[in-house]
Amino acid sequence: MQKITDIKTMREKVAEWKKQNLSIGYVPTMGYLHEGHMSLIQKARSKDRLVVSIFVNPLQFGKNEDFAHYPKDMQRDSVLCEKAFVDVIFCPDVSQMYPKDFCSYADIEGLGEELCGISRPAHFRGVCTVLTKFFNIIQPDTAYFGQKDAQQCRIIKALVKDLNMPLEIECCPIIRESDGLAKSSRNSYLNQEERKAAAVLSRAISLGQNLIKKGEKKAHIILEAMRKELENEPLARIDYLKIVDYDTMKQNEIIRPNSLCAMAVFIGNTRLIDNFFIEILE
Ligand code: AMP
Repeated sequence: MQKITDIKTMREKVAEWKKQNLSIGYVPTMGYLHEGHMSLIQKARSKDRLVVSIFVNPLQFGKNEDFAHYPKDMQRDSVLCEKAFVDVIFCPDVSQMYPKDFCSYADIEGLGEELCGISRPAHFRGVCTVLTKFFNIIQPDTAYFGQKDAQQCRIIKALVKDLNMPLEIECCPIIRESDGLAKSSRNSYLNQEERKAAAVLSRAISLGQNLIKKGEKKAHIILEAMRKELENEPLARIDYLKIVDYDTMKQNEIIRPNSLCAMAVFIGNTRLIDNFFIEILE
C-alpha cells in the first residue's frame, strides 16, 4: 500500500493504472475509520485498484462545527487500509486542496437545501466541491458511499448525472453497533452516558418501521410516535425528523416506496444522523 499526499503523484499513479486499463474503485472518507467505512472498502475491492481518501474537508463544516476537533488517527487508519488491501491512501493537506487563490465551487440547488442543508447551509456545497476535485484527480470507475448519509448519496448521484461525470455512484447499507447505533467517527465524542442514550435513534427507527409494517401510511402519525420516543430521552434534542421523497427530498404526508425517513439528533453536543428507507408491504 502506498500513502500519497501529493496531487501530482496521485495523478501519475492514476495515469499509470489507466494505461494498463485497470478499473479504479474509490472510497472518500474523513478518516478515523470504522466498520462502516470498511464495508465500503470491501465493496470497492472488486475493482482492479482501490483508492481511499482521508481528508477532513474544511469547506463542509460550518463556523461553529467540529472541524478543529474532528477525530484523527492516521496510523490506525493505515493499518486498517493495509489489511483491507487498499492500494493507495490519498491524504492531501488542506493547502494543496485549497491553495490561497482557490475560488471555484460545485454546488447543488434544491436537494441541498432540505434536511441537513437547513441546519448546515454550506455543507453540501463543501461536499460537492471536494468530491468534484477528488473525482477529477482519482478518475474512479465507481465511488462508494454509505446510506448513513442518504441525502449525500442522493446529491452526489445528481451531481455526477447533471455534470456528466464519467463514474458510477454506489450507495451501501448502514453498518450498526450491536444496540443499533449507526457507526460513526463522531460516536467517539460521546461519553458513557451519552453513548447509552444514543441508542434512542435506532429505537425510534424500529418503532417507525413497526408502525409501517402494521400498515400505517400517514407520515405525521409515524413521525409523532418516533418523536415521542426521542423526546423521552433527556439527553436527546431533535434537529430534524422527517419523511421525504428520496428523489426530491421534499416532505411526504402519505408514505411511498421511495420515501426516506431521516433524522438528525443531538445527544449532548454531538449531532448524530440516521435514516431508513420505507418498505411498504402490500
Ligand atoms: P465520513 O468519513 O464520515 O465522511 O464517511 C465516509 C463514508 O463512509 C460516507 O460515504 C459515509 O456515508 C460512509 N459511512 C459512514 N458511516 C457509515 C456506516 N455506519 N455504515 C455505512 N457507511 C458509512
